[in-house]
Amino acid sequence: MTTTLERVAPFTNQAIKTFSDPADAAAMKDALAAVRARFGEHYPLVIDGKKIETEKKIRSINPSHPDEIVGLTSSASKDQAKEAIAAAARAFESWKRTTAQERAAYIFKAAELMRQRRFHYDALLVLEVGKSWVEADGDVAEAIDFLEYYAREALRYAQPHPIVPIDGERNELVYIPLGVGAIIPPWNFACAIMAGMTTAAIVTGNTVVLKPSSDSAVMAAWFVDLLHEVGVPKGVVNFVPGSGSEIGDLIVSHPQIRFISFTGSKEVGLHINELAAKPLPRPKWLTRVVAEMGGKDSIVVAADADLDAAVEGVAISAFGFQGQKCSACSRAIVDASIYDQFVEKLKNRVAKISVGDASVQTNYMGPVVNEAAFKSISEYIEIGKKEGRLISGGKRAADKGYFLEPTVIADIDPQARLSQEEIFGPVLAVIKAKDFDHAMEIANNTEFGLTGSLYTSDEKKIERAREEFFVGNLYFNRKSTGAFVGVHPFGGFNMSGTDSKAGGRDYLLLFMQAKTMSRKV
Ligand code: NAD
Repeated sequence: MTTTLERVAPFTNQAIKTFSDPADAAAMKDALAAVRARFGEHYPLVIDGKKIETEKKIRSINPSHPDEIVGLTSSASKDQAKEAIAAAARAFESWKRTTAQERAAYIFKAAELMRQRRFHYDALLVLEVGKSWVEADGDVAEAIDFLEYYAREALRYAQPHPIVPIDGERNELVYIPLGVGAIIPPWNFACAIMAGMTTAAIVTGNTVVLKPSSDSAVMAAWFVDLLHEVGVPKGVVNFVPGSGSEIGDLIVSHPQIRFISFTGSKEVGLHINELAAKPLPRPKWLTRVVAEMGGKDSIVVAADADLDAAVEGVAISAFGFQGQKCSACSRAIVDASIYDQFVEKLKNRVAKISVGDASVQTNYMGPVVNEAAFKSISEYIEIGKKEGRLISGGKRAADKGYFLEPTVIADIDPQARLSQEEIFGPVLAVIKAKDFDHAMEIANNTEFGLTGSLYTSDEKKIERAREEFFVGNLYFNRKSTGAFVGVHPFGGFNMSGTDSKAGGRDYLLLFMQAKTMSRKV
């Protein structure tokens, strides 16, 4: 089973389904019923290819109906986490000797199966994390893209690399894997980010322990099963759900962990970075940490912007998937000359957003992910009501389920908590800027630097933003969310992380080291 870069078609993105085709909508309804029929299923740990049920379980609930249990995942003990790392270390000895062609072939096969089962993956996201149908399909499409893209990238890195020739020597540079990695993804792109981080690590020849988020452990279990189904050898991917404090710290500081690939909050990212830097009994390397963290993303609306387009872009970026995207717009920074008009139009637009059970096709917004998120976001709404003027929302949207109204709070001071802290929910701060200079100053006034967007019709303002707007992903006259693999390599500056640029040509380098070999001739 081999494949080469020349033999695979060039990468193209999966189109995201709108479900306007009745056949797609019918298939999705069937898939939702099929996933519901599996509610309550048990998902064991997978260590060295062996499935292990533990007594302690992680309950994955449906945030639209918190009394429904989507699945029960086994929860690894400290000893089991250590066993998983040992298994990955053993498997590394043979996996590192496989060719990129062999490894890529497994991943292409996994991508194909995921395409075939796409609606089931969509349905699981709707039920496990509360994504709307379209958002769920975007997540699964992105996962397939990551698989297809990274497999091609692994083949590209396996090709000869240009080296300056010199008389009397033959020189070459090859990329080799690092070793055993810890993969620690978030729940918010439960399929795409989890699958992307895992795939990047193994397609480059590393072996991993995957510790998923407890809010989306079933999706990770499905993906691990899929990898084994296509023949990825035992021990290459070890599945160890568990609590961050119980086994997370152990995994991160384990001496056999060579690298950590983390995506999540700033707080946990900083904690992991600190643990990984400690000179414990670490054998002979600096543990490599790739940490993609939070955001406080702004859309700047200049005086000369197309106002309707800006309102639309802000509403979608702020409230798509309930504002639970690292790229979500949580601050609209609006020029004073159009501020009142903007706020009025935004209020009218937000009034059209429907909130409710994510499995109902017509609901644009579903629930937030869990009770803790519901409480924390609700607290921020109360803070916001004191810091500014409530324009839309501000309340729970239904009795049961973690539903919150899309909330807009205007007249927020640039230094207010609502302007500075990541809320990770459907709460938008609107901030008035005196002029464009002031807007740029506000846009850069947080510790984060993930995404940003500018609506303007003035080329000079675009030029200035290109120079000054300090974010990893900057957009003009479009929403701040919806990065496509290969098209918009993704990652942020400052406290938004190590700018790994997932879905870009540099990403796989983070999972490899280069070896130069010189031979006298
Ligand atoms: P989180 O930080 O709470 O958790 C992320 C992962 O870390 C989870 O798997 C969790 O179980 C694990 N974890 C928690 N404590 C740990 C510990 N002590 N040791 C090891 N692992 C531990 O984040 P979340 O709520 O899952 O995700 C939301 C956050 O992720 C937001 O801040 C969002 O901005 C960020 N995010 C960033 C990007 C990006 O590309 N920059 C993408 C998606 C999400």
